[in-house]
Amino acid sequence: MLVVGNGRLITRDDEVQFLENGAVAADGNTIVKVGSADEVKKAYPDAEFIDAKGGVIMPAFINTHEHIYSSFARGLSINGYNPQGFLDILDGMWWTIDRHLTLEQTRLSAMATYIDSIKNGVTTVFDHHASFGAITDSLFKIEEAAKETGVRACLCYEVSDRDGGEKAKEGVMENASFIKHALADDSDMIAGMMGMHAQFTISDATMALCAANKPDGVGYHIHVAEGIEDLHHCLKNYSKRIIDRLMDCDILGDKTIAAHCIYINKHEMELLKETDTMVVHNPESNMGNACGCPPTMAIFHEGVLTGLGTDGYTHDMLESFKVANVLHKHHLCDANAAWGEVPEMLFNGNANIANRYFKKPLGVLKEGAAADIIVTDYNPLTPMSAGNVNGHILFGMTGRSVVTTVGNGKVLMKDRRLTMIDEEKVMADCRQAAADLAKSING
Ligand SMILES: [Zn+2]
Repeated sequence: MLVVGNGRLITRDDEVQFLENGAVAADGNTIVKVGSADEVKKAYPDAEFIDAKGGVIMPAFINTHEHIYSSFARGLSINGYNPQGFLDILDGMWWTIDRHLTLEQTRLSAMATYIDSIKNGVTTVFDHHASFGAITDSLFKIEEAAKETGVRACLCYEVSDRDGGEKAKEGVMENASFIKHALADDSDMIAGMMGMHAQFTISDATMALCAANKPDGVGYHIHVAEGIEDLHHCLKNYSKRIIDRLMDCDILGDKTIAAHCIYINKHEMELLKETDTMVVHNPESNMGNACGCPPTMAIFHEGVLTGLGTDGYTHDMLESFKVANVLHKHHLCDANAAWGEVPEMLFNGNANIANRYFKKPLGVLKEGAAADIIVTDYNPLTPMSAGNVNGHILFGMTGRSVVTTVGNGKVLMKDRRLTMIDEEKVMADCRQAAADLAKSING
C-alpha cells in the first residue's frame, strides 16, 4: 500500500476536482481511495507514506507522440547538414540518425527518453520509432527499456518505402510481431500499433501490405500533412488530399493516430470526426521545422479527439503545453484562443487517447484508476481552486517541478532520484552510445 499526501490535490475527476489538503491511496497498481489527507491516512495507517510537503499532487502525464530515435540528436552536428526545407531536415538529420542506429543504441535511446520522461512526470509514452539500419527486434529492445524503467509504452515502427521494398516489408513485420506480442501481454503496460512514416513515402502496395499484416484491435500511427510537400505529393500522385487517400486505404478509425495535420481542410476534419480518428498536436516541432501552424483549434472544435505530444523535441509535456498555448494565440491574433482547448487536449484528450489502448483509466486520480501519480514542488501565491488549477500549472510549473513520479503503483522517482535503475551507469552507457553514433555518422 502506498499513500501520497500532504499536498494540494488535482484529480481530473469531475466528482472531486480539487482538495486543498488531499491524499491518494494505491493498492498495488490501482488507486483505492482519494480524499482529504486525514481521511486517507486514517483509512490506511500502515501504508508507505510519500510526503508531498505542501506541493501539488496530480495525475502523471501522458505523451501521445514521441520519437525515441531522436535521443542522441541533442548537440549533434552532422557534416554538410544545412537544411533548406522540411524534406532536408528529414533526410539530412532524422533519417541519417536512424539509418545508423544499432539495436543496442536503440535500446539506450529508449532508456534515455524514458529516464527524462519520468523526470518530467510522464509515465505513459506513445512512441513512433525508426531505425532503418536495424529494424527487426527494435520494438522489443524498446520494450526492454520500458520494463526496466517502469514506463507504460505503446510502440510502433514507422514503415516507409524510403529505403526500398525489403526494408518496408521488414518494418511491417516488426510491427506485426510486436503487436501480437503486446496483445498477448496482460500487464496493461505495453501496446502496439501499425506505424507508418507518412503517405508520401508509402506506396499503395505498402499500404496494402500493412493492412494485410495488421492484427485486429489496433490502428495506425502516422504523420499527416506535416509539411506542405506531403500535400503536394498526394495531390500530384493520387489526385486527392491526404485524409482522402488514408480514408480510401482504410487507415482511419478510432484506434488510429494522425500526428500534426497541418495542411488539412474542413472536409478532411469532417472525415477525421466521422471516423473517430485521433489527432496529436506537436507545437514546438512544427515551429522548429518551419512547417507552419496546424488548424488545431478548428480540428478540436470539429469534435475530433485531439491530444498533445512532443515529437521528440522535448520530453516535457508542460513545455509542449506552454508552447501550444502561445502558438495559437499568436497565429490567430486572438488573446482568447486556446485557454480551454489546450488544457483539454493535455489532460483529457491524452487520457482518452491512451485509454483506447490501455484498460485502466489513466490521467485521473479516482478509485479504480491506474496508480500513476506525480508530486510537484509548486507552491501557489494566488489561492488554488478547482477553477484555476490550469492557470497555475501553465504559468507556475515546468516538467522539472516534478519531484516524485509513481507509475503503475511503483515509485519511479522520489525527491528527483530515480529508484528503479542506476541512473549514472545508464547515462554513462548512453553517453558512449551517443559518441559512437556521431562517429559512425560523420566517419
Ligand atoms: Zn513525429
